Amino acid sequence: MLNFDFYNPTNILFGKGRIADLGKVVPVNARVLVLYGGGSIKSNGVFDEVMTALAGRSVHEFSGIEPNPSYETLMQAVELVRREKLDFLLAVGGGSVIDGTKFVAAAACFDGDPWAILEKRGRNITQALPFGAILTLPATGSEMNDGSVITRKALQAKMAFSSRLVFPKFSILDPSKTFTLPARQVGNGVVDAFAHVMEQYMTYPVNSPVQDRFAEGLLQTLIEEGPKALANPQDYDVRANIMWCATLALNGLIGAGVPQDWATHMVGHELTALYGLDHAQTLAIVLPGMLRVRKEGKRAKLLQYAARVWNISEGDEDVRIEQAIQRTQDFFEQMGVKTRLSDYQLGAQNIEAILKHLESHRMVTLGEQRDVTLEVSRKVLELSV
Ligand code: NAP
Ligand code: FE
Repeated sequence: MLNFDFYNPTNILFGKGRIADLGKVVPVNARVLVLYGGGSIKSNGVFDEVMTALAGRSVHEFSGIEPNPSYETLMQAVELVRREKLDFLLAVGGGSVIDGTKFVAAAACFDGDPWAILEKRGRNITQALPFGAILTLPATGSEMNDGSVITRKALQAKMAFSSRLVFPKFSILDPSKTFTLPARQVGNGVVDAFAHVMEQYMTYPVNSPVQDRFAEGLLQTLIEEGPKALANPQDYDVRANIMWCATLALNGLIGAGVPQDWATHMVGHELTALYGLDHAQTLAIVLPGMLRVRKEGKRAKLLQYAARVWNISEGDEDVRIEQAIQRTQDFFEQMGVKTRLSDYQLGAQNIEAILKHLESHRMVTLGEQRDVTLEVSRKVLELSV
């Protein structure tokens, strides 16, 4: 096992009816800004529950945080925070709203142009406003981690930052609030969580059986429960298990003491920045090719994955590995997330532009061995056409 620091200060309030407990975790004298997206929380009643729970506090609101939250939109929230001297943020929504809120929390306290936060990947954050989250879409793990991904539309750049100062103080996870998710977002969420586990598990062995078994347990649970959420959207237990899986997939636990890859995410971010694909769609396109092209470096873990997650343990090694990758791809398709560039009207003609973007964002030595060069990314994309 590798050396590690594990730090996670986020207080999780999980279960039905927990929004009512907001009053216990938002400071009484706080000047609160409630941030949300395009309005799903207005139509499904979450907004009203939040306002009721915050009654008596000074509350402002900021709406319109879009999927793949933009710097341009978020800077308007930063202005509002500064103008009204707000001191506590509450994100209500999916990963985009929570990521966006992390940026607002740091940017509101930042001297100079806050885009520098993205350029320095968060290393220059010295202060951030406290914030909490109410999660309505299990997927990103943003509700219990210190990462955030922000898009600057004018530059077609989608960049990540992280800082210990942007862990949520608390997150409320009520699985019944995910009943209203459209099937597309249910599929996206399961695929994103699955990809998060793979980025931390599918590397090379470092004798870490406990992390491996946590990871395999999450993968198997997503494989079992994901299709049930599509078939029976009102099943509370299915939603609860998916929600907790997605949080555990990226809260630092399974990644502690093991190598991490993240090349699929980095290539995927360019696909969203350039062509507007949903985050999980990009992962479903890139991950199968990433595993095929990098099979040698990941051989031992691919065989372990085939055996423990897909029960494939007999026959030729290369056949087992290919079967496991194909089963992974089929699972994404089963969740309704298409896995080829051509499914999104993209193809070989787009590969040059994607590679140029990777280069301009210095994404030229990715992966756990830093051996995912532009040439490797090219092969991955060629396999994904
Ligand atoms: P999202 O972009 O937050 O939301 C997608 C859509 O789902 C929105 O249109 C939203 O509508 C809708 N929605 C959310 N909850 C709903 C509900 N309960 N009922 C009905 N509709 C609902 O999706 P996401 O997958 O959670 O977040 C994706 C972003 O997170 C990407 O930018 C990705 O790069 C990033 N990400 C972050 C991390 C991290 O660690 N921080 C990890 C992976 C990915 P409304 O806008 O109307 O609410
Ligand atoms: Fe992700």
